[in-house]
Amino acid sequence: MSYEVKIREDWCKGCYLCQNLCPKDVFDKADEINEKGIVIVKAARENDCIGCMQCANHCPDLAISIIEEEEKDAS
Ligand code: SF4
Ligand code: SF4
Repeated sequence: MSYEVKIREDWCKGCYLCQNLCPKDVFDKADEINEKGIVIVKAARENDCIGCMQCANHCPDLAISIIEEEEKDAS
């Protein structure tokens, strides 16, 4: 199983709780700021995500969704 880590950039307030909690170090601070002038996070290592939901469950602004993806078939 692989996972898509979806971040609502306009909802992120830059608390970096997700970055601190993620056991797989998926998040980095992004190079850009959002419309509120906040340095947001990005899922820099999305392929390492194990779907533990720590980030989504603890984001105070519900800005993260973890979406299960079917393994991409090479056929
Ligand atoms: S926990 Fe939520 S609000 Fe905080 S940095 Fe991560 S995505 Fe942004
Ligand atoms: S679901 Fe778990 S492994 Fe995936 S990005 Fe969130 S905290 Fe990291």
